[in-house]
Amino acid sequence: MKFKLTYLGHSAFHVEYNGKGIVIDPWIENPLSPMSLDQFLDKFPVDLVVITHAHEDHIGNAEEIMRRTGAKFFAIHEIFVDLTKKGFEGVGANIGGPANLSSIVPGLSIAMTPATHSSYDKGVPTGVILFFDGEAGLYHAGDTGLFAEMQFIGELYAPKVALLPIGGHYTMDITQAVYATKMLKPKVVVPMHYDTFPPIKADPNEFKKRVESEGLAQVRVMRPGETEVFEF
Ligand SMILES: [Zn+2]
Repeated sequence: MKFKLTYLGHSAFHVEYNGKGIVIDPWIENPLSPMSLDQFLDKFPVDLVVITHAHEDHIGNAEEIMRRTGAKFFAIHEIFVDLTKKGFEGVGANIGGPANLSSIVPGLSIAMTPATHSSYDKGVPTGVILFFDGEAGLYHAGDTGLFAEMQFIGELYAPKVALLPIGGHYTMDITQAVYATKMLKPKVVVPMHYDTFPPIKADPNEFKKRVESEGLAQVRVMRPGETEVFEF
């Protein structure tokens, strides 16, 4: 499998797969963002917007992106109902096995995982596992504390790349994210959800040192705006 991943700061990532664009938790105008929304839309194709939960720093610029690109969205049922009422088109799902999204991005399916967090009254918070031609390629944990079912995700799927929050305060901190890595068994971990606001300051290089010294995975610290091509 091969996909291209760009970090946009906070928990926002762009994924390019099979010539299509996916943006996850698209708060493009976050304080660490390397580009404006206009610049983002000029540079990146967007066919699918994936939203892990209803907090503003995750839904972010989703509506404007969909208005301007015609992209579809993928979210939990209650967010689906909300966005559908506003005239947007997408696929609603819930925690469980993959939903087939091949009609939007050829070869893509997405499973929703639990996340221990909150989401106003919009269903429950989630994480997502993106399957590329049936293989678990990318796990975006959303906002979450450590939870035991990560063990199941690791045993069932061992997603190749895991995007994990390390900022603490609202989500896992470095210590919890190291333990999460042990359970998830990814090849590569990319830390996210840190340094955006003062309470979530964290040192991604400390996370890297701890994960790699235990031999758990390779840590790729991506600076906002950086792109990496993953091939497995
Ligand atoms: Zn949140």
